[in-house]
Amino acid sequence: MSVLVYASATDGTFKKAAFEVVSYGKKVATQLSTNLVVATINATDASELYKYGAEKVVNVANATLATFNAKGYAAVLTQIATKENANVIVVDTSIDGLYLAPLVAVNLEAGYASNTVEAPSNIAPFTVKRKAFSNKAFSNTVISTEIKVIGLAKNSFGIYENPVAGTTENFDAEIPNSGVKSENIERITGKVTIADADVVVSAGRGLKGPENWGMVEELAAVLNAATACSKPVSDLGWRPHGEHVGQTGKPVASNLYIAIGISGAIQHLAGINASKVKVVVNTDPEAPFFKAADYGVVGDAFEVIPQLIEKLKAFKAA
Ligand SMILES: Cc1cc2nc3c(=O)[nH]c(=O)nc-3n(C[C@H](O)[C@H](O)[C@H](O)COP(=O)(O)OP(=O)(O)OC[C@H]3O[C@@H](n4cnc5c(N)ncnc54)[C@H](O)[C@@H]3O)c2cc1C
Repeated sequence: MSVLVYASATDGTFKKAAFEVVSYGKKVATQLSTNLVVATINATDASELYKYGAEKVVNVANATLATFNAKGYAAVLTQIATKENANVIVVDTSIDGLYLAPLVAVNLEAGYASNTVEAPSNIAPFTVKRKAFSNKAFSNTVISTEIKVIGLAKNSFGIYENPVAGTTENFDAEIPNSGVKSENIERITGKVTIADADVVVSAGRGLKGPENWGMVEELAAVLNAATACSKPVSDLGWRPHGEHVGQTGKPVASNLYIAIGISGAIQHLAGINASKVKVVVNTDPEAPFFKAADYGVVGDAFEVIPQLIEKLKAFKAA
């Protein structure tokens, strides 16, 4: 019996989501009085994970897995889970993780709880708390299968150091032909991505036109934030589609979400509810976004944002 966590590495390097799933796996392993095993694929330095409690890391180094393919990665994780006799498997809820976890659950005939936000509240029956209804509610879910797969919602558990003297072993997995091949990947470099950002600065139709995004980008640069937008803004071609957040766009689970000139339609809120602190700037005090906000500024973005940038710059300089 063991708890198996999949810690994903991008170009060999771990990001915060990997440290969070390992921290979570360590907690569950302690609850179950069992050991933690961490699976990685093409990790450059798996020993980074020892700090978060990874006693044993199993790394698969294979050039055919250089880019993500759900079938191949699921096969690897399934083989490691079987080898390690894992009865709980934890995967993050990145786009890749959302493909991977259900496939692994099917391979292992396991129950799958997506969007889990806490360590199990009970071990027998195995009960986890999950986000439901586009993050507007929680459900307590019992997984009754012998093997359980958990999808851990980003930024829900936190990162905890728990240093151990870990070991890393290599594993020769059998990689099936996935039937899919990435020809090339164009990465946006030098910019914080929405998925990795601690802070997201987002703007909507209230900004009137693409020529006014300079102040949004400047605010994002001061805060080392990612830029995002509402759906109409990307539909109008004011911003790239990759920046559209919401129910039909990217989900955001940042620590801080700043919404400028966005009304707060239900479809927009559905994608950003998981963000911890929401700050809204809007001229209309009746804008629905204020009901979902932690802090609200009723005011004209064209006056408020330049002043905010100035204050933040002064604060940083001091
Ligand atoms: C099936 C479906 C799926 C959808 N999915 C999404 C989705 O994923 N994401 C999404 O965002 N939308 C989505 N939408 C669209 C959604 O319903 C809203 O129409 C959209 O979010 C509104 O965008 P907005 O807030 O930028 O624009 P508006 O609704 O036009 O709001 C602009 C806001 O800016 C404020 N404002 C104006 N001037 C200023 C100023 N100078 N300073 C400050 N504030 C100002 C206004 O008071 C207003 O509140 C979806 C709709 C449907 C039907």
